[in-house]
Amino acid sequence: MENYEQLLDEAYKKIKPIESNGERFETPKAESIIEGNKTIISNFRQICDHLRRKCEHLAKFLQRELASPGTLEGDRLVLIKKVPSSRINEKIKEYATEFVLCRECGKPDTELEKKDEFMFLHCLACGAKHSVRAKIQ
Ligand SMILES: [Zn+2]
Repeated sequence: MENYEQLLDEAYKKIKPIESNGERFETPKAESIIEGNKTIISNFRQICDHLRRKCEHLAKFLQRELASPGTLEGDRLVLIKKVPSSRINEKIKEYATEFVLCRECGKPDTELEKKDEFMFLHCLACGAKHSVRAKIQ
């Protein structure tokens, strides 16, 4: 008779790895609230993790695109401006299109590569490389 550990081992083998291949990429939605003259995106780090990009990079992009100063506070991004969540989500989508999704195959399995003063979006799925804005400001 098999012992518990062997059974557990078998069970793990049956679990398939998560694949993003073939699935439509969903841009994560921002959960934001307006407090006074500030907008707080409470799930900001989750969004960055989902997009596999640095929080500083996305934060810079949003600050520029929304013309608002902002600060990273733990997992949250605080913008010093009232911004409706629909507008934030629109900008996150733009960010994904420019810095995350491959222009060739549309997959999100990409990484940003810096070379000299240039930045490239390198697709790990199909190998395509596209230049993107190196500096957001
Ligand atoms: Zn690709």
